[in-house]
Amino acid sequence: MDFQPDAGLDAFRDEVREFLRKNLPSDLAGKPVGSVRSMRPDLVRWQQILNRKGWGAPYWAKADGGAGWTVLQRLVFDEECVAAGAPTHDGFAQKLLGPVLNEFASAEQKAAHVPHILDGSRLWCQGFSEPGSGSDLASLRTRAERDGDFYVVNGQKTWTSYAHESDWIFLLVRTDTEVKRQAGISFLLVDLKTPGITVRPIRSIDDCHHLNETFFDNVRVPVANRIGAEGDGWKITKFLLNNEHASAADLPILRRGLTLARKLASTQRAGREPLIAQTEFALRLARLEAELHAIAMMVQRVAAMESDHSPAAHAMGSMLKVRGTELQQRISELTVEALGDDGAVAYPEPHDACLDEPMPRQDIGRGVANEMFFRRASTIYGGSSEVQRGIIAKMLFQL
Ligand SMILES: Cc1cc2nc3c(=O)[nH]c(=O)nc-3n(C[C@H](O)[C@H](O)[C@H](O)COP(=O)(O)OP(=O)(O)OC[C@H]3O[C@@H](n4cnc5c(N)ncnc54)[C@H](O)[C@@H]3O)c2cc1C
Repeated sequence: MDFQPDAGLDAFRDEVREFLRKNLPSDLAGKPVGSVRSMRPDLVRWQQILNRKGWGAPYWAKADGGAGWTVLQRLVFDEECVAAGAPTHDGFAQKLLGPVLNEFASAEQKAAHVPHILDGSRLWCQGFSEPGSGSDLASLRTRAERDGDFYVVNGQKTWTSYAHESDWIFLLVRTDTEVKRQAGISFLLVDLKTPGITVRPIRSIDDCHHLNETFFDNVRVPVANRIGAEGDGWKITKFLLNNEHASAADLPILRRGLTLARKLASTQRAGREPLIAQTEFALRLARLEAELHAIAMMVQRVAAMESDHSPAAHAMGSMLKVRGTELQQRISELTVEALGDDGAVAYPEPHDACLDEPMPRQDIGRGVANEMFFRRASTIYGGSSEVQRGIIAKMLFQL
C-alpha cells in the first residue's frame, strides 16, 4: 500500500473542514458528547444539516442514498467532525442497520426506513444481547412465534444502548427451536411504541444513562418487518458485525483523548513546572502517541483492504478493535492522572447535573473521570477483547 500524501484526500479534507466551519452551529460545536452519542436534539439537528448537504449517510454507497465516499474519505470525515466538536450521528442506524437494509431489505422496507435515517426522524437501537447471551449470541432465547401476519415476541434484551432515546429497535429473535441454533434466528425491525415493550434504565459506572434492559411481553410485530427470510438472522448478523473493519479502532476518539492529555500536560503544573517537563510523564505521553501513530498506519492498511473479505482482513479488524480500545483506556487513565487531585472527581455532565453552581475545576475536569470509567466498557462492547483474540487466532492460525 502507498503511504505517500494523497492530494485528492487533502482536497477532500479541506472541503469537509470548510463545510464544518460554515455549517456547524456554534452552540453545538464542542458540546460534551457523553461517551457514545450526543443528546437526541443535538444529534437530530446535526443530522438534518448533514442531510441537506447530501451527507446524510456518510458510510453508504451513492446508489443507496449515501455520500459514496471511499473508506479513507469516511475516516477523514469522522476525524474532522470530532476535531471540530460536531455532534455524533446515530451509529446504530448509519453503520449497522443501514448496510443491512441496503443489502437485504425489500424495496418497500427500504422506502419505509431509509428516508427517516437520512433526515434523523427515526433513531435506532440494537437488541442483540440478552442476560446469558452476549459473546455467545447464538444462544439467545427471545422467542418470536408466528400468529397469522404477526410474530408475537416474548423475552428480554439487555445493555440496549440508547433504547430510551430511540424510536425503533433491530432485534434478533428465535423463530425456530428445532433446528441448529444459528439457523433458528431471525432479524426483526420493531417500533418501540408497540404495546408490551418496557425499557428500564441501567445506570453505568460513569454515572450516566446510556444503557437499558428491554422487555418484550406479547409484542405483536408484523411479519413484514422481518429482514430476509425466516432463519436468516445469523447470516445478516455476521454481515453486520463484519462491516467497517477500518473504524474498529475508533481513531477519532483516540485522537480526541490524546489532544486533551497533551493540553493538560502543558497547562497543569507539577510544582513550579508544567507537567510535560516531568520526564516520566512526558515519556508516557510520547509512548501513547507512538502507539496511536502505529494504529493510524494500521487503519490505513485495513482501509486499503476495503473489498478484501479474506480471513487476514477480518483478523486485522479484530486487531484494531483490541489495540484501539486498550489504548483508549490507557489514554483516559493518563488524562485522569494529569489532573492530579481533581482527576479523582467525577464532575457531572451538564445534561445529567442537578447543580445550580458549576463545580470548581469543572472547566478542565468535566467528563474526564466519567470518560475513564466508561472506557472500561470499550473492551467489552462490540465483541470483548478475549473474543477478538479468539477470532484472530482462528482467522490467522486456524486454531
Ligand atoms: C457499554 C456497553 C454497551 C452495549 N451496548 C449494546 C447494545 O446497544 N446492544 C446490544 O445488543 N448489546 C450491547 N452490549 C452488550 C455487549 O455486546 C456484550 O456485553 C458483549 O458482547 C459481551 O457479552 P456479555 O456481557 O454477555 O459477557 P460474556 O459473553 O458473558 O463474557 C464474560 C467474560 O467471558 C469472556 N468470554 C466469553 N466468551 C469467550 C470466549 N469464547 N473466549 C474467551 N473469553 C470469552 C468475555 O471476554 C468476558 O470477559 C453493550 C455492552 C456494553 C458494556
